[in-house]
Amino acid sequence: MISGNETIIEKMEPMSHGRTDLRKRKPKLLAVINEHCTGCAGSPVCVAYCPVEACMFWVPDPDYPPFGRIEVDKTTCIGCAKCTSKGPDGTFLDGCPWDAIEMVAIEEWEARRGTVLPAVPDRPVSEWNSVPAAQV
Ligand code: SF4
Ligand code: SF4
Repeated sequence: MISGNETIIEKMEPMSHGRTDLRKRKPKLLAVINEHCTGCAGSPVCVAYCPVEACMFWVPDPDYPPFGRIEVDKTTCIGCAKCTSKGPDGTFLDGCPWDAIEMVAIEEWEARRGTVLPAVPDRPVSEWNSVPAAQV
């Protein structure tokens, strides 16, 4: 969907469901999905571990339905790394087993994308079912 000059992504299920009050400040890290994401054939392992409402969501591949991938709303991610399988000091967690999620410093992501993220979600929860593409 295009709204003005801004592309808006409508979030689809499978989507994370959880709390809406967890991001109280800018996180140090953000979850970034890389090219290894296969979408787990439509049953994403990672989504169940995310504690934030509508933070991880399905993006269909228009060229190869029913395939797709998972993406992360960078305005609601709290950087908890529960979606990844790499914990601190080489420990293993239960998240994505395919190395498809990297935890990236928020300043690095902002510099790479030429954008500045809000410290806390800048849209009411009733609007969390979509997100500007610039914040994904
Ligand atoms: S990020 Fe990993 S667990 Fe999540 S859908 Fe992609 S491959 Fe599957
Ligand atoms: S780092 Fe935490 S909040 Fe961010 S996508 Fe992963 S599980 Fe969700």
